[in-house]
Amino acid sequence: MKRNLTHALESWIRDGIRAIGQITITPTAQGGYELCHTDDLGKAELVAYTSAEDARALSFFDDANAYRPLKTAPTLKHGWRLNLNTGEELRHALDYFYPAMAALWHSHLQANLPAVPLRDTLNRQTGMYAATKRLQDEEGQELVGQACAASACAKRVLWAFSEGQALTRLTPEKLSAEPRPTPAGIQEIPLLCQEACNILVAACREVVKKRERSQSPPPQQTGSPSH
Ligand code: SF4
Repeated sequence: MKRNLTHALESWIRDGIRAIGQITITPTAQGGYELCHTDDLGKAELVAYTSAEDARALSFFDDANAYRPLKTAPTLKHGWRLNLNTGEELRHALDYFYPAMAALWHSHLQANLPAVPLRDTLNRQTGMYAATKRLQDEEGQELVGQACAASACAKRVLWAFSEGQALTRLTPEKLSAEPRPTPAGIQEIPLLCQEACNILVAACREVVKKRERSQSPPPQQTGSPSH
């Protein structure tokens, strides 16, 4: 599978794909690949890296050195370029920047990427996350409209709210896996979300808990005030 994915990646790039998320991929004359933040294309003063492993550290923090819990948040650090020699190294590096995203696109192209409705994901939660089963439709739709908006996450959302109930607060572009050029006219590998992530599930729990706290009566006073 990994070798297939490397070949697929090399072939997409031969066919003109040049971006994934906030990263631009430029084939080099030596048969390798140069990666940089798309905003940094053409800039000379970039810090040079040469190992796929370097992508791991580059993916952790944003420009303000704040930790990025969601790798697909549009907050990728600027100021670097990463030179890689082979398609294998490219696959490794992209997996650090955007875990599993090339593999999901590969599966999608093979019509083998079933999407899981949010309700199904929540209904199988256990322990402290079982509270998410009590998420109300309207509060859930509102939360998804904020947490999964393009300003918060670069993935395209493939799942429905529930079987037969579409998401209502995201744009049509956000809900489509269709490849389209970036604003700079670059062909990209779309980042796909086929099932709600842990961060969204945790946010669903917070919404439920907050509502239930606000609805619960204040604790009863027992006994008499002491004097
Ligand atoms: S559920 Fe998917 S689209 Fe929404 S924030 Fe998580 S990864 Fe992004």
